Amino acid sequence: MDLLLIGPPGVGKGTQAARLRQALGIPHLSTGDLLRRHVAEGTALGAAAGAHMRRGELVPDALVTEMTLEQILGPSCSAGVILDGFPRTPAQAEALDTALAGHARRLAVVLHLTAPDQTLLRRLTGRRTCAGCGDSYHPDTRTPRTHGQCDSCGQPLVQRADDTAETARTRLAVHTRQTQPLLARYRLAGVLHEIDGCGDPGDVTRRLLAVLALRAAGSSAL
Ligand code: AMP
Repeated sequence: MDLLLIGPPGVGKGTQAARLRQALGIPHLSTGDLLRRHVAEGTALGAAAGAHMRRGELVPDALVTEMTLEQILGPSCSAGVILDGFPRTPAQAEALDTALAGHARRLAVVLHLTAPDQTLLRRLTGRRTCAGCGDSYHPDTRTPRTHGQCDSCGQPLVQRADDTAETARTRLAVHTRQTQPLLARYRLAGVLHEIDGCGDPGDVTRRLLAVLALRAAGSSAL
């Protein structure tokens, strides 16, 4: 099954995608993570994308789409994928639909996680990310056993360049502007589900799984 987790920066897409991956047994594909890996490795794509990312702006469609479709249509995602961060624009959505249809696949469900801007800004600016494995920490929800050091791999925890207050605000504004047409598209297609992303991460996961279970029950009843 191909599904999309959509929502503003800081709403917990990464955390929830990892939990859904466990529960559903299909991989999680985060374009933000993929792009950050390219930047860290100094690839040509990373060099082209890096400046946009540091400003909190979207990376041009052509760059992101080619990189992401290659993964989605690759062997690791043949049983389906949990998309996180792609598509973000109508052009990307169009390219995704066309590519999936060419392989007798389709985006079966879109899960839209929501939270108030104030909550999101607090989450983003307080977030510290492991420089090694990308794991996230936050004083409100998850503190590392040793200050400034990742529990999983021991690497230092850093603030992502785009998690500063000013850039976080830009990212929220960009997100709202860019995703409205996407939400309209998926609402019209009847695959959009709105889920409250506030509160305990375990509760949010239960809400997401409940929607998927209802959907599965609905389709088997047809
Ligand atoms: P994220 O980790 O999903 O918040 O993404 C971090 C940054 O990567 C974004 O602010 C964009 O600059 C870039 N990015 C990630 N996914 C996309 C996408 N689908 N289209 C354009 N830019 C993207």
